[in-house]
Amino acid sequence: MDAESLLDGLNEQQVAAVTHQGGPLVVLAGAGSGKTRVLTRRIAHRVATDQTDPRRVLALTFTRKAAAELRGRLRHLGLRDDVVAGTFHGIALTQLRQRWADRGIAPPALLDRKYRLVSQLMSRRQGVEALDVVSEIEWARARLVTPEQYPAAAELAGRNSPIAPAELGELMHRFAQEKRQRRVVDFDDLLALATRDLLVDPEYAAAVRWRHRHLYVDEFQDVNPLQFELLKAWRGDGDDLFVVGDPNQAIYGWNGADPNLLRTFARREPASTVIELKENYRSTPQILAAAGAALGERKAPLEAHRSDGSVPTITAYPTDQDEAQGIAETIRRAKTADRPWADQAVLVRTNAQLVPIEQALVAAGIPVRVRGGSGPLASTEVKTELRALGRPGVDLTMAIRALDESLRLNRSPFETALAERADDVSSAPTEDEHEPNSRPTPAGRLDEDQTLTPAEIERRQNLAAFSRLAHEYLTIDPAPTGPGLVAWVGTISAGEVQLDGDAVELATFHGAKGLEWPIVHLAGLEQGFVPISYAKTAEQIAEEQRLLYVGITRAELELHLSWAAERTFGTRSAKRQPSPHLGRLQSAVDLLQRGHRPLDWRAEVARSRGALPPKSRPNRTLAPDDPTFDALHTWRRNRARAADVPPFVLFTDQTLRALADRRPSTRSQLAATPGIGPAKLERYGDELLEVLRRVGS
Ligand code: ATP
Ligand code: MG
Repeated sequence: MDAESLLDGLNEQQVAAVTHQGGPLVVLAGAGSGKTRVLTRRIAHRVATDQTDPRRVLALTFTRKAAAELRGRLRHLGLRDDVVAGTFHGIALTQLRQRWADRGIAPPALLDRKYRLVSQLMSRRQGVEALDVVSEIEWARARLVTPEQYPAAAELAGRNSPIAPAELGELMHRFAQEKRQRRVVDFDDLLALATRDLLVDPEYAAAVRWRHRHLYVDEFQDVNPLQFELLKAWRGDGDDLFVVGDPNQAIYGWNGADPNLLRTFARREPASTVIELKENYRSTPQILAAAGAALGERKAPLEAHRSDGSVPTITAYPTDQDEAQGIAETIRRAKTADRPWADQAVLVRTNAQLVPIEQALVAAGIPVRVRGGSGPLASTEVKTELRALGRPGVDLTMAIRALDESLRLNRSPFETALAERADDVSSAPTEDEHEPNSRPTPAGRLDEDQTLTPAEIERRQNLAAFSRLAHEYLTIDPAPTGPGLVAWVGTISAGEVQLDGDAVELATFHGAKGLEWPIVHLAGLEQGFVPISYAKTAEQIAEEQRLLYVGITRAELELHLSWAAERTFGTRSAKRQPSPHLGRLQSAVDLLQRGHRPLDWRAEVARSRGALPPKSRPNRTLAPDDPTFDALHTWRRNRARAADVPPFVLFTDQTLRALADRRPSTRSQLAATPGIGPAKLERYGDELLEVLRRVGS
């Protein structure tokens, strides 16, 4: 793609970010403002203008899904696969493998799931959930907290350690020792080892830094200190660093991410430039108003570029089944000939909530695709397992543990496990590294064990999926029983579609990050889910609030929110309260229904409580599908192309908007429009009036 068309359609700040020269650059901006777009365009633009060799670019993100998305967008911009785009873990792994091979070191085995080893170390402590211990260890590693520091750090951070903090520190220490003795490394070790190699060997570091001298990081608010150390080591004293992020979308603090690394970036980097993007291209003003209300901010966080859309709906249902059926009906009504199923998504806080929804959708004949998938539940081995667990007198926790044990892997040597992935940094085993709901199960990367037959691998994969669900059930039902588990799993239907078929997408809020759909349904907005029950400290509760914001900002045109007054867990049903955020959302929706655009919804609420009716605000047309704005935009693009300058050099978007709003028809009216100075009036006045006259007629 040529350099000029790579700037096409970008707003002024976006162009500035794409074309910025010299020094580190950070783009701080809200959801849907084009951060990822700017990141990919910048890479492509610098390549197109010969400022960057694509093979020297390293683009980083945090999940494999996000990395795949980045690569897709880069390919779309004509960059094929020259640019290395991957996750921190993936790149670290590739570099370590290369280094071990170069130095003739036998690679250590990869401990892909810590659960089993940790539970062995704590075998005398029946009843304490090893999974909780594992997540504490992971948090400590992410935060660069040593075993000795754990008790103090955990207290400071308000962690609820499953065992006495000092004991947890001790366990962490023994876990590290055990790994050394067995010569295995886990994912966190990959990051630490890759960092250490760069720090201790200047020659090696120089080579790596030469190879990846242009660094890009998407979703920087989710970086944790362990990853940040590696980023610093990769960078050395290089200054070509570009990061983008949104503090309002920081949703991995629980897992050790530190959004302050984004917030304080400019302060720590005096030579850096900060660019803010103010416009949202994804969502209607109504959806952004809801997003602002969810955050509890005085103002909607961004200005909508889209034109008005429908007002978000909030529905209370008597039960979770009613909710699921209601969503199915809404989805069906919204389905039209030119709107495929894939234009809609249902998002929830936890994986478990997807179950009744999937069932209702399938029963209503709606094709669904679950991120994560529940197809395995129809398999013989899972059915057999379920029959056994449903028998009276079975100790469920023990039985699930036994299942986990039976799934024990013949750990494949590091090289074998990764043989097929040699050149594909993207597919390093980091798929779930950021999914707090996908707690580690002992049966991790079963697909890699090459001593097993394909049928056996499939069998184990099915059981592993089941084990994951079973653990989820254990965490949500305060009084878990075998029959409860059977009933719970039984509600999951076997109806799934082909991966590439047209289907409504079901996902968690976490899994939906960075993605977008025209119509989004957020379900289960209840106390206990939003915020999640285990969020206790103010910080954790704020993170849950941001998670809701992430969910809402996935929607482009329509947003439907719902909750249920009663919900079934296994065999029990429980009364539910609406999410505390629904009150503010309802106020915002009420105002929107009366034709307001609550850019400042709190002031509006206050006013509407006092004197009714509230004063209406001028309705501005900001939308690209406003024909006047469109015509001006097209004129500017053509004119800029002819003059070989970026479009905003002629007129900013703001000026075009002012023109579209006021529609001046004389030179003096034109001169009174903000942004039109005497020189521009002289030069372009007649043409502008002509464009405006043509649209008006
Ligand atoms: P998130 O915070 O959710 O990751 P983001 O800031 O990365 O969002 P993008 O995904 O890059 O936002 O962009 C949101 C949507 O807006 C995309 O569909 C993108 O193509 C579109 N978009 C961004 N900038 C523009 C623009 N200047 N003109 C038209 N569409 C745009
Ligand atoms: Mg993005």
